[in-house]
Amino acid sequence: MCLASFSCMTERKRSEQSADTKVAKDYLTLEEAISAMKVKEAAVPLAVYPGDTTGLPASFSPPYKPVEPIKLFDNLYFVGTTTVGVFIVDSGDGLVMLDTGIGDTDIALMVNDMKKLGLDPSGIKVIFISHEHFDHYGGVQYLKKNVCPEAKVAMSLTGWNFLQTVPPEWAYIGKRPQSVDIYLSDGMKIKIGSVIFQIIATPGHSPGCLSFIFPVTDNGETHMAGIMGGSAVWPTQVEARLYKTSIEYFKAFAREAKCDVGLAFHSQESDFAQLRLRKPAEPNPLVIGQEKFDKVFLQKFRDRYQKMLESGQLNTYQPL
Ligand SMILES: [Zn+2]
Repeated sequence: MCLASFSCMTERKRSEQSADTKVAKDYLTLEEAISAMKVKEAAVPLAVYPGDTTGLPASFSPPYKPVEPIKLFDNLYFVGTTTVGVFIVDSGDGLVMLDTGIGDTDIALMVNDMKKLGLDPSGIKVIFISHEHFDHYGGVQYLKKNVCPEAKVAMSLTGWNFLQTVPPEWAYIGKRPQSVDIYLSDGMKIKIGSVIFQIIATPGHSPGCLSFIFPVTDNGETHMAGIMGGSAVWPTQVEARLYKTSIEYFKAFAREAKCDVGLAFHSQESDFAQLRLRKPAEPNPLVIGQEKFDKVFLQKFRDRYQKMLESGQLNTYQPL
């Protein structure tokens, strides 16, 4: 080997290395996200309340009326009831479940529906909880105990703390997660399998409410899905203002990510009727485009805030 070619190779190696360091990844791997949170987890032990064994409030009897499970994209599925549902992403290295339904009965139905779609529920690797209300975290204990014991549970630290501090009769904490493996923070990106999930803090509906942005593919074509967490505005001035700000905050991230698919957890937000009628050659009706993501999808949330504002229903803030 001549000296010139050796020096050329060394040079190439150096420039490859510097290119690598220049393009630093802007996401955490699942392992990094878990290890980053270990100290904090120890600092926030699970509070124990008297009567903590209670489950859902007796007054709450959801219909548990299942809707037909559906594959939305090549790598995204929805299972749920007429009340609330969950999304499942096939990451290529395990399943990621977003939210967990109301409680044991609810999630058991959803797990069964996953099988109908050809998904193996024991392959759930990560569970993202959008916010600290029982209709979103209520199935997590059932999943960990009966379905996917090794799954990592992720939610915001604010949401977790909220579940330690609010009166149990309000939070229905009997069904809250028993531990959290990853605290999700604003702007965080986590890569699971081949999918990078971006987390956006959108408080207002609840203090620790999160929204999500991640890629989906339709017949191999990539689109960006945005899931707005917490789809209702609560009737206090502070929370409503937070909610309004959060919509616009989420919009900024959605615009940057070029979101063209808008989704939400409650069934009234996610109408898949058109998709069920789709013929093979037709475009996916859930792909609404970037403009409609803002002007139609996010506008629903703005309208809700506006309606409440105009109705004079907003109360002064009363801490729980
Ligand atoms: Zn909620």
